[in-house]
Amino acid sequence: MALTGLQIYKLLPKTNCKECGYPTCLAFAMKLAAQKEELSKCPDASEEVKAALGAASAPPIKLVTIGTGEDKIAVGEETVLFRHDKTFFHHPAIGEILPDTMGEGELIKRVNYLKSLDFERAGEMLKVNIIALENKSGDVETFARAVKTVSKIWNRPIALIPHSSAALDLAMKETAGNKPLIIAGSGSSEISAFARTAKEYSCPLMVCGDGTLEGTLKAVDEAKKAGAEDIIINPASDTLSNFLTHQTVIRRAALDRLDPRTAYPTGVILRGDDLPLLAPAAICKYPAVILMENPPDELYISLMTLRQNIYTDPQKPLQVEGLVYPIGEPDENSPLIVTTNFSLTYFMVSSEIDSSGVTAHLAIIEAEGMSVLTAWSAGKFTAEIIANSLKEMKIAELVKHRKIIIPGYVASLQGELEEEMPGWEILVGPQEASDIGDYFKQVW
Ligand code: SF4
Repeated sequence: MALTGLQIYKLLPKTNCKECGYPTCLAFAMKLAAQKEELSKCPDASEEVKAALGAASAPPIKLVTIGTGEDKIAVGEETVLFRHDKTFFHHPAIGEILPDTMGEGELIKRVNYLKSLDFERAGEMLKVNIIALENKSGDVETFARAVKTVSKIWNRPIALIPHSSAALDLAMKETAGNKPLIIAGSGSSEISAFARTAKEYSCPLMVCGDGTLEGTLKAVDEAKKAGAEDIIINPASDTLSNFLTHQTVIRRAALDRLDPRTAYPTGVILRGDDLPLLAPAAICKYPAVILMENPPDELYISLMTLRQNIYTDPQKPLQVEGLVYPIGEPDENSPLIVTTNFSLTYFMVSSEIDSSGVTAHLAIIEAEGMSVLTAWSAGKFTAEIIANSLKEMKIAELVKHRKIIIPGYVASLQGELEEEMPGWEILVGPQEASDIGDYFKQVW
C-alpha cells in the first residue's frame, strides 16, 4: 500500500534544510506521496525511508512481456485507476484471432493485410501488435502447420490458443523462441499443463476464467501453483457490464495490493456481435491484451487512434522540436507559415500543406506542446516570442519575400507582430488547418 504524506514525513530528517527545493520536509513528503517527486532530491534521506518508499512504490501490477525483438509487447506496471491521476504506461496490444482452419493462402493474405494497417499518427507508428492462432480444427498437426506459416511472415508477437496440451507442445516446436503468449481457454481442464509449458519456455500465460471473479482468481491460483510466473488475467466476462466490473475490481484490488492473485495485467478475447462495442471499452478499461475474432476491418484505425489518445501522458503534451520544417521542397519564394509545437497541430498543418500541393516552410514555435489558442491564452505564443523565435531561425535568409502567415485563431497578434518585425508583412491564415489548401489558392 502506498504511504501517505504524513507517514513519509515521519521518516524524513525534519530539518527543513530546503536542499530538495521545498521549504519544508512536510511539503516534500506531500509531493513524494503524490509521486510527483523523487526521494533522491533529499541528500539526507535515511536507508529506512529509502527502503519503505522503495517497497511502497514498486509497481503493484507485474510487468509481462510477450514476444522478442523490437516489436515485443510489454504490459503491466500500471499504477493508477484513472489516467488523469498520473498516466497509463504500457498501451494495450491489439490483435486478431485466426483459426487454423483457414487455408495457408488465406492465412498469408490476412497476415499481410494486418501488416498493411501500420500507419503514422502524430509522430508515432500505430500497428496491430499480435496474432493469435486458434486450434479450431482440434487437430494438432493442422495447428502446428498454421503456427509455422504465420511465424514465417509475421515477425511480431504470436499468441497460441491450443485445444489440448498435445497441440500446444507441437506448436511450441515451431515458435517457442518467439516467446508466444499461451492462452489457456475458459474452463480449460489443462490450465496446470499449459502453465508448466509456459514455465518451461519462460512464456507468458493468459488464464481465462469462467465469467466470474471467483472462478477466474481460482484459475490464476492454479496456474501460479503449476509454476506460471508471467500471467495475464482474462475473466471471460459475458456482458459489457460484467466486463467493466471485473476489469475495474481486478485493477483496484491490484493497486491496493489486496490480493496477490490480481497483481497481473488483464486481457480480453472478444467475439460476436458485441465486439465493436466492447473493443473501445477495452481500450479504456483496462485489458493489456485485446484479441478479436472477425473484427470489422474499419474498427482497427479507430481503435489504434483511441489507444494513442488514452495512452499519452496527460501531463506531457506530445510536442515536436521548434524548427523550420520544409514541406515538400520549398524555396525562397515559398510561403512561410507559423504555428505551435503541439504534435497534433504540427501533423495536421503539415499534412494539409502537403495535400494542397504547395511547398512551404513551416516554422514551429516552442510553446510547451500547447495548441495555438491554449498557448496564446497561456502567454506562450505571443508576438515577442514568435518574433524572437523566427529571428533565431534566420527566416530572413530562408525566404526572399517578407511575408509570414500566422494562424487565424491569433489574428489579434497581427499588429503586434508587425511592430516586432519591421519590414515583414503579417498575413492572417485560416483558423482550421483543413482550410489551408483554399487559403493558398485564394491568397498566395
Ligand atoms: S532536503 Fe530532506 S531534510 Fe532538507 S527539507 Fe528537503 S526533505 Fe527535509
